[in-house]
Amino acid sequence: MQTYDIVTIDGDGIGPEVNQSAITVLREAMGDRLRFTAADGGAAHYAKTGAVLPPDTFNACRDAHAILHGAAGLPGVTYPDGTEVGNDLHLQLRFRLDLYANVRPIRLYRGVTSPLAGWAAGSIDYVIVRENTEGLYASRGAGIVLRGEVATDTLVVTRKGVERVARFSFELARRRSGAKRDGRRRVTVCDKANILRSYAFFRAVCTEVAAHYPDVEIDYAYADAITVHLLKKPDFYDVIVAENMFGDILSDLGAGTVGGLGIAASAELGDGHGLFQGAHGSAPDIAGQNLASPLATILSGAMMLRWLAARHADATLLAGADRVEQAVEAVLAQGEQVPRDLGGSARCTEMTDAVCRQLR
Ligand code: ATP
Repeated sequence: MQTYDIVTIDGDGIGPEVNQSAITVLREAMGDRLRFTAADGGAAHYAKTGAVLPPDTFNACRDAHAILHGAAGLPGVTYPDGTEVGNDLHLQLRFRLDLYANVRPIRLYRGVTSPLAGWAAGSIDYVIVRENTEGLYASRGAGIVLRGEVATDTLVVTRKGVERVARFSFELARRRSGAKRDGRRRVTVCDKANILRSYAFFRAVCTEVAAHYPDVEIDYAYADAITVHLLKKPDFYDVIVAENMFGDILSDLGAGTVGGLGIAASAELGDGHGLFQGAHGSAPDIAGQNLASPLATILSGAMMLRWLAARHADATLLAGADRVEQAVEAVLAQGEQVPRDLGGSARCTEMTDAVCRQLR
């Protein structure tokens, strides 16, 4: 049976705690089918060595079957322009490995109470696909600050970039079973096409791609309006495709409606590589105290299994992904071990043990 090489980068803040938790759970689920190799990187590593993503780590990531990451970034570790160093770990991986689709499922699990009244488990279940290599963040490091008076960053949208993320989103909608409200397969394009040419172009290219998917409905929403819709009618959504920064903001909002950042998984996918980490950052306020919820990283690990299963036609990995997700949901539904961010008092290691017990 094939084994898979997984490079793991713990990173900073809560990164090591949540990453080690996910590794423990994945080992429990898959035994020796996964070979984990730890690699350096992150803000603390930069402070020590001057490299946030050392060449050895990049090469290992490039050559591995998949990458599992905790989180990176420390508040005091910044470049001279004031931006945080830690983000460069995953930004460099995104750009250099061309991880163009950032997939962030928003799903209300059993045992989790949404801050939105009246929504039952499973009734909120959509996916945000954040374009991950262009948009406003593409100009990171290349913005201009002029005479201490004016600052600019450039929003970049290319036909190639939109076509591929739009195709990815429509293909994803085809594999899903439609929006919870009406069962219709739907891709919602999130932009500000009414204000900026770049967004009107984003919308136009998505509309062109939609013509190849007559079985999937296309829908449009302005980035400001959709923040209200996600609170008032979350069941209307199936797949949402958004420009990089809009996707970043929306996915935090979506996560907030289903329990918060501690349960928000994320997969950053290209045609040849995949990086898996929770949608949250390094949460320095709770780091090193065993307080973080590992569920986001564990669920990202399940996404990794599912992605590997599809790439390598490996049914055992698919079964493993299902088992991990079901174990997390069962632990939440039982309500004996509840992480602090969901109103309980279970520590990171206690949540890990509970998920492993459930798997056994
Ligand atoms: P980034 O910009 O790098 O995504 P951020 O500034 O948005 O990071 P996070 O590190 O994501 O901030 O965390 C925001 C807050 O959410 C944290 O201060 C923490 O209280 C909470 N949080 C984030 N992740 C978790 C987690 N896994 N478990 C518990 N709480 C978390």
